[in-house]
Amino acid sequence: MKIKDILIHCCCAHCAAYTIKYWQEQGYNVTAFWYNPNIHPYMEHQNRLEAMKTLSENMGFNLIVVEGYDFVEYFRRVVGHEAERCGLCFDIRLSKTAETAVELGIDNFTSTLLISHQQKHELLKEIGEKLSQTTGADFLYADLRKRYSDSRCITKPMDLYRQQYCGCVYSEWERYNDKTIEQSSE
Ligand code: SF4
Repeated sequence: MKIKDILIHCCCAHCAAYTIKYWQEQGYNVTAFWYNPNIHPYMEHQNRLEAMKTLSENMGFNLIVVEGYDFVEYFRRVVGHEAERCGLCFDIRLSKTAETAVELGIDNFTSTLLISHQQKHELLKEIGEKLSQTTGADFLYADLRKRYSDSRCITKPMDLYRQQYCGCVYSEWERYNDKTIEQSSE
């Protein structure tokens, strides 16, 4: 029987833990993938990456970390389109994941963002499915939102760094000011 492979874009350790377990239980050989230029500032990115590396060691899965920190690319795409930034942000991260899957000969990709209640779930699904058509890697969808508490059960004893906002500076401002950015700046 052919072993099925999947490349899983990981937004953070706490969303990754159960998502990785789930796809392993579905019979997939999992490779985790870190590419999150939407996380600001840099040391916040590094704290979340360190937590992800510790999870990878503790759970024993392979983790690919993209070198560098493409935050300039993130802002080039988003500035002037702040109200639509999440779709652009998903596209930046999932495009890189799908393209890398194709380069590595991995047939399937998905994202740990699908376990989060905080994310625009239907938009994520739409962008993943669009990338299936344009890149040739198959986007595997699973609605894992009811399993987020299972993910926390796995990570809690590990005492990993846990973020307080989604990632970008806009989301940090919204988190601490209880506001939403409605309008683009243009
Ligand atoms: S709020 Fe989160 S998903 Fe939306 S653009 Fe910012 S980091 Fe990306």
